[in-house]
Amino acid sequence: MKHIIEFDTVDLNNVFPFFLFFNADLKILDAGNSMLKIAPNCIGKPILESYELVRPHIEVLDRQNLRGICHKLIILKIQNSGIMLRGQFEHLKMNDHFLFVGSPWFESAKELELSGLNLRDFAPHNPLIDLLHVLSAQQVVNLELKELLERVNKQKNELSASQKMLKSMSESLEESNNRYKYVNKATSEAIWDWNIETGEMYYGDGYQKLFGYPINQDPNQSNLWEIRIHPDDLERIGRSMDEYIKSNHDQWEEEYRYLKADGEYAFVSDKSYIIRNTEGKGIRMIGSMQDITKRKREEQALKLMDSTVTNIQESVLITSAEKGHPIIYVNSAFTRMSGYTLDEIIGKNPKILQGPDSDQITLEKLKKAIENHASFETSIMNYKKNGQPYWVQFYINPVFDNQNNLTHWISIQRDITEIKSMNDEMVRQKKFNEDILNNIPADIAVFDPDHRYIFLNQYAIKNPELRKWIINKNDFDYAEYRGISNELAGKRWGLFEQAVEKKSTVQWIDEHTKDNKKNFILRNLYPYFEDGHLKFVIGYGIDITERKMIEIQLNEAVQSVKKINDELEQFAYVASHDLQEPLRMVTSFLTQLDKKYGVNLDDRGKEYIHYAVDGAKRMRQIILDLLEYSRVGKVNEPMRDVVLDEIIEEIKLLHQEQINELGADIIFDPLPTLKAHRTPMRQLFQNLISNGLKYHRKEVKPEIKISCIQNDKEWIFTVADNGIGIESGYFEKIFTIFQRLHNREEYSGTGIGLAVTKKIVEYMGGKIWVESVPGSGSSFFFSIPFNSDNENLG
Ligand code: ADP
Repeated sequence: MKHIIEFDTVDLNNVFPFFLFFNADLKILDAGNSMLKIAPNCIGKPILESYELVRPHIEVLDRQNLRGICHKLIILKIQNSGIMLRGQFEHLKMNDHFLFVGSPWFESAKELELSGLNLRDFAPHNPLIDLLHVLSAQQVVNLELKELLERVNKQKNELSASQKMLKSMSESLEESNNRYKYVNKATSEAIWDWNIETGEMYYGDGYQKLFGYPINQDPNQSNLWEIRIHPDDLERIGRSMDEYIKSNHDQWEEEYRYLKADGEYAFVSDKSYIIRNTEGKGIRMIGSMQDITKRKREEQALKLMDSTVTNIQESVLITSAEKGHPIIYVNSAFTRMSGYTLDEIIGKNPKILQGPDSDQITLEKLKKAIENHASFETSIMNYKKNGQPYWVQFYINPVFDNQNNLTHWISIQRDITEIKSMNDEMVRQKKFNEDILNNIPADIAVFDPDHRYIFLNQYAIKNPELRKWIINKNDFDYAEYRGISNELAGKRWGLFEQAVEKKSTVQWIDEHTKDNKKNFILRNLYPYFEDGHLKFVIGYGIDITERKMIEIQLNEAVQSVKKINDELEQFAYVASHDLQEPLRMVTSFLTQLDKKYGVNLDDRGKEYIHYAVDGAKRMRQIILDLLEYSRVGKVNEPMRDVVLDEIIEEIKLLHQEQINELGADIIFDPLPTLKAHRTPMRQLFQNLISNGLKYHRKEVKPEIKISCIQNDKEWIFTVADNGIGIESGYFEKIFTIFQRLHNREEYSGTGIGLAVTKKIVEYMGGKIWVESVPGSGSSFFFSIPFNSDNENLG
């Protein structure tokens, strides 16, 4: 007998033979008799070891949720037999124990039979209760059946709904297939479908439309893509696609160039979607290629335009055409030029660039052009942000939209401050030059290479109208205009061509007679070449009438002097020639006198005769010397090669006796051979050598040295002696006729020798001079310039 609880379980067995009695730790303490039939050995074990809690289904059963499910429908399943028990838990508060009261149910009598139970086990004593239990069990079965039926119905409904859905899905699939077909036909994009695993490739109708190739449904055309993509894009696109296939991304998009049937490349945008298997491996790609050539070209053109406008040297400024013309764009050249930053200028009116000295007339014209929506070009002074003015070449152009509405103004500006100041400087310089040219007292004309006037100064043509008229005309036009002969124009033309051909100045003198007065103009034509090209020819004429007059007078004076000189020379010649005869007579009669009457004369008388004869001799010598002097330059002999060495030898021979007497030495370097008149050359050397011998120092043997040097234009000869020398005060005088430094008792002579040498040297265009130290010697130098006849003779 179990007395665990206060009531007797026997009683309980009578009413609920399938009871279970367990404590709060879920350990079974007792069980009904019928229960023990179907779940033997359950006593003493945790309830969940022998029973499974089917309803409610709770993962972990503990004291807490056990209480919560008391008085609710409990279904327990006996672990090994699978028999279901339906009942409820009761909590016995007095000892915190639990009671399960329930009963098993079966779907059929067969199941009941297999369980080993019989009806008695359900109601051991009360048949009514038994019956009730059976009925209630049946009811439960019914309830479950009903539930089952409901579930079946629900599933049926769900099935029919899914069937409907499946149908509608297949319909929409077909529709979408059709749509795909139509899209494929309608679209201008080339749709492609590539099976990555098999390599099969299909192209939609758009492929033909886009690239012009006939449609080919051969699936083995995946390599077409590689063939037709631009070689420069192939590597980039191939890599991008490989990376994409390996990645876990769905979408792929690239732009590249693709070869069309006509041989041109189209820019395409290719977008695709990849289908991956459950492992994420890409198995199929569907994409669409779109021809974006036009867009790309526009983009490139825009880019180019943008870069051009941004980088152009000229400032670009765009204003809106709306009221107030706010500036909406300026390029960096503008900000550099004006000093304004973008923030400072955008939104402002371009008037911000004007200042106190902006030219109002130009601005007025600009305003008019803007009102008329017309382009306008001008140069204008603008002001920088710092107030500094600058000149711009300014061009403004209206911009219209498709509906021909004015939307913007574009203005392009170039800084011409430097050019402007250069221009101003050039204008100033030009004026300066013209002022000078106009004020020079000379005709000045500048011709272009075709001999047309491009400039004439005031002096050349006084009348300003005529001066203006003649520009771009030539001398023939002028002759025609003036109705005068072409002769002068023709002459000038010839001279012009001569100057250009010679590439050097041509000079001539024009002679005019005006008001019975002669005028002489010295004219020059100077051709100016640059890099070998004739640029212009400058002609100028200087009035040389005065100079010419002086020249004429001088020439006349020279001529008259020459005449007088000639007459004088003639006189000297005639006089000396004619004097010889009476002199001879004087001499011969004196000689006769001496012979015949000498014996009757005393010594004084003889002395007188001697002086008279001596005087007559000297006079003869003077006359001879004078004759010689006057003959200088009057040579009848031709020029020939004069070997100076020979001449010196001849002179030596002539003076042989004197040389021997004095023990003199005459030495000379090899001397040149000259083209000259021999006689005066000989005379020249002879006079100098004989002086050298004559003016020797008493106790010193004379030594005369002749030498010659040459520079770039002349020979310079030296005849040097070791004689008595000359005081420097006489260096000039001794070359004057009749000038002697000694009396004839000391040294004989007429004082004409050096005058003759001077005349000969000067006649040949040279000079003669002396250097001397008294008591030690003199050196006579004379130069003979080269002339076309003698310079190459050595
Ligand atoms: P002349 O010898 O007949 O007097 P020149 O005209 O030859 O006339 O010379 C003028 C003068 O110059 C000479 O009287 C002499 O006083 C001086 N003179 C010329 N040659 C020499 C010389 N070699 N040495 C010194 N005095 C000279």
